[in-house]
Amino acid sequence: CGIVGYVGAQSALDVVIAGLKRLEYRGYDSAGVAVLSDGGLAAAKKAGKLLNLEKELTDRPLPSGSTGIGHTRWATHGGPTDANAHPHLDNAGRVAVVHNGIIENFAVLRAELAERGHDLASETDTEVVAHLLAEEFSSCGELAEAMRLVCRRLDGAFTLVAVHADEPDVVVGARRNSPLVVGVGDGEAFLASDVAAFIAHTRSAVELGQDQVVELRRDGVTVTDFHGAPAEVRSYHVDWDA
Ligand code: GLU
Repeated sequence: CGIVGYVGAQSALDVVIAGLKRLEYRGYDSAGVAVLSDGGLAAAKKAGKLLNLEKELTDRPLPSGSTGIGHTRWATHGGPTDANAHPHLDNAGRVAVVHNGIIENFAVLRAELAERGHDLASETDTEVVAHLLAEEFSSCGELAEAMRLVCRRLDGAFTLVAVHADEPDVVVGARRNSPLVVGVGDGEAFLASDVAAFIAHTRSAVELGQDQVVELRRDGVTVTDFHGAPAEVRSYHVDWDA
C-alpha cells in the first residue's frame, strides 16, 4: 500500500517511519522496515498500526543505518499477520523487499523456489521476489541487474523496492502498473509510492515510467528499462503544499 525508501546521511529509520506516517491516510493493516547497517541487514514488522511497529522498535531497537526501506501493507495474499507483513527477506537474510500490488504467477515461482531448496516463511505473493533477487544477485552481484532479471519473470502489477546487505549504499525500485516516485535531494535520495512521503525533504522528483528500474545512490539516480537500456527521466518540481 505505502512504500518508502531512503539512502543518504540521515537515519534511514527516522526518514522511513516519518514517510510511512504521511501515507497512513491510504489505509493499511501491517507495517515494517528494513535498514542496512555495518554490512548487515535488520528488519522489523508488525501487524496493525504503525504504532505497533514503533513500539516493537522501542522494545527491540534496530541498529542505525542510512539506507532503508519501509512498507504499510494492505493484504491481498495471506492474512494480516506479523509473518506476512513486509519487508520479506531471503533465507540468508541479505535481501529485503517491499511490494505493492499482486504477483499473479507467484504460485509457480514459489513451487520452483521450494524445489531449489528455498524455505518460504509467509503466505504472500511478495516473498518469492526476495528469494529470486537473492539467487540473481549471487550470480550477477548487482541489485539493479538482479531486479531487472526478476521483473522480467513476474506477471501482474507491482511496485517493488529492495535493498541488499552487499550493496549498502543502494536502494533499487521497479514498477509495472503501480506508482513509484523518486525524490532527489542533496546527497540523499528517496523512493515512495506517493510524493507526500518525502515532500518534507525535497521538492525535486522523478516519475518512473512503465516497466522501469531505478537505482538510488546518495549522489544520484539511474533509470533503465527491464532490459537495462537507459531510460529518459522526466524530472519535475513538486509545488503543492503538503
Ligand atoms: N500482495 C501483497 C501482499 O498481500 C502486497 C499488498 C499491498 O499492496 O500492500 O502482501
